[in-house]
Amino acid sequence: TETTDALEIRGLSAGYRGVPAIRDIDLRVAAGSILALLGPNGAGKTTTLRAAAGLLPALGGTVTAVGSPVTGSVERATRAGLCLIPDNRGVFHRLTVAENLRLAKARGGFGPALDRFPQLRPLLNRRCGLLSGGEQQLLAIAKTLLLRPRVLLIDEMSMGLSPVAVQQILPELRRLADEDGTAIVLVEQHIDQALSVADEAVVLHHGRTALIGPAADLREDRDQIQRAYFGDK
Ligand code: ATP
Repeated sequence: TETTDALEIRGLSAGYRGVPAIRDIDLRVAAGSILALLGPNGAGKTTTLRAAAGLLPALGGTVTAVGSPVTGSVERATRAGLCLIPDNRGVFHRLTVAENLRLAKARGGFGPALDRFPQLRPLLNRRCGLLSGGEQQLLAIAKTLLLRPRVLLIDEMSMGLSPVAVQQILPELRRLADEDGTAIVLVEQHIDQALSVADEAVVLHHGRTALIGPAADLREDRDQIQRAYFGDK
């Protein structure tokens, strides 16, 4: 519904072998809204996404997707419409674009993905290993679209992408949020580009929230982000 956030993370702690890598994270993302998840290497961005998707158990706290409790369960998260695109993009390099799309959805066609990303049409018979990084990322998003995500978590979106490819993909995410009402969490190294497409931004530092605010405000105050990256208040 309009009043419920599509993704609600409360007091989330998670980590590895019982040792927390993130602590007490609170995040809310409304339908149709994009949250940029920022922070230096090792800050806990990937851990936050993996815990939100149920791939890592929560050491504390809760995750709610479109009103359903999904904490620690990939299955429940998936059923609630929460999808994670991992930083390796989860596409199969030895399969063609068409085969990858077909795998995403055993029943029904992949037409809707091609309607959204017609750039993929001429590439359907090409093996994914031969696509550019940007094309692979588009395919990963297209594949995920077939699952009709209500909440989309994207890790290191622009890893290995040219600046031009990043400039092409970010508007697609904005469109996905605006037109489909998808709630998006975007982990992104390019701070300016992330802030230009996001509604809100969070900076993590040493597994904790160092800064949270409207993207437009943070764009105007880059010093604040800089300080959060270094862990100064
Ligand atoms: P990057 O931008 O470098 O990917 P990140 O913000 O995504 O960093 P995480 O990958 O979430 O950070 O890592 C958070 C902390 O958890 C780091 O200290 C990291 O060393 C640790 N960590 C990550 N993965 C594991 C793992 N599989 N086993 C043990 N510790 C891990």
